[in-house]
Amino acid sequence: MYDIQKIREDFPILSREVYGRPLVYLDNGATTQKPRQVVQSITDEYYSVNSNVHRGVHFLSQQATELHEASRETVRRFIHARSSNEIVFTRGTTESINLLASSFADSRMKEGDEVIVSVMEHHSNIVPWQLQAARKGIVLKVIPMNDRGELLTDEYEKLFSDRTRLVSLVHVSNVLGTVNPVKEMIAVAHAHGVPVLIDGAQSVPHMKVDVQDLDADFFAFSGHKIYGPTGVGVLYGKEEWLDKLPPYQGGGEMIQNVSFEKTTFNELPFKFEAGTPDYIGTTALAKALDYVSAIGMENIAAHEHELTQYAMQRLKAIEGMRIFGEAGNKSGVISFLVGNIHHLDMGTLLDRLGIAVRTGHHCAQPLMLRLGIEGTVRASFGLYNTKEEIEVLAAGIERVSRMF
Ligand code: PMP
Repeated sequence: MYDIQKIREDFPILSREVYGRPLVYLDNGATTQKPRQVVQSITDEYYSVNSNVHRGVHFLSQQATELHEASRETVRRFIHARSSNEIVFTRGTTESINLLASSFADSRMKEGDEVIVSVMEHHSNIVPWQLQAARKGIVLKVIPMNDRGELLTDEYEKLFSDRTRLVSLVHVSNVLGTVNPVKEMIAVAHAHGVPVLIDGAQSVPHMKVDVQDLDADFFAFSGHKIYGPTGVGVLYGKEEWLDKLPPYQGGGEMIQNVSFEKTTFNELPFKFEAGTPDYIGTTALAKALDYVSAIGMENIAAHEHELTQYAMQRLKAIEGMRIFGEAGNKSGVISFLVGNIHHLDMGTLLDRLGIAVRTGHHCAQPLMLRLGIEGTVRASFGLYNTKEEIEVLAAGIERVSRMF
């Protein structure tokens, strides 16, 4: 039984009003709301455990370290990594990708080497590679898509050359909702001897992810998009890969021994975690993962699938509606425009009705160029959304349309 009312009670913010109307929060692609269990964990740890982790002999430091390392184990279990050495804590997806781009390009790429990305990447999986391209003369190759928003896998295969060093690919598009067939695409890359980084920012919160089953070499996600705190995220990497790669930042925690002549680096995963980690955040992230696990990722996926099907049908019935992204395998993200109403006008007027949606290019300007538009209105669903809220959205869109 998916007890939506009980779930909603765990999220106090969902019962607030904006402009005197009940909040309808449909901006989960940007960030999700937090259940009491997550917020409570932050307060509890600050009030009763807080102390810097690792190397501490005293009681509090050891307790904080145990919580922090137990969270790493929770993340390992959640994405089914083989070892907790493969879980690197970062600030989020963006930092995870920058870490890998920097470390991978520094050690394993030279001028003329190629990275394959797709046309539907978020800027955070484009710009880090461009920074490396500017530094090292690396070339970006781009997988195209069809008008439904599905990647052209035949074209993908043709992009491989003897200079391809990495594929860096989004699992679920934050604009189109397309769920890319990453398992098959990883297999293609491996057949060419090329490792793959998956941007899982929009997949991990909405479906069961098993990094071993996908055979991903690297996988990035953010805590705040899966009902956890801001400022903490994960880079998963196969141990044999992380072992080979050099550190990203230098400082405390990541070293074994330092002298002015020579420094040796710590073992995994600490080699990639310079400085004091957000240990309060990692505990809260683990609480968020426990929270969604208790509901069941399969149940969450089924609930959101039903919402998406319902919303697609309901929104398509609105006159002048254009939906961007109609992939066969689509998650709970709906980008749209109505007639020639500007996305910003639609978003602003929906806001006055208490409906929170996102407008603009959604950090995917190359995709906007491909679609021939400047931006969209985007509704994105989470585990606590309801069909009633989709009705409010649809009625709101109709009301705004009538005004124009
Ligand atoms: N990739 C995708 C697909 C995203 O949707 C986002 C966030 N909108 C990111 C990466 C970046 O995540 P963060 O800002 O949490 O680092």
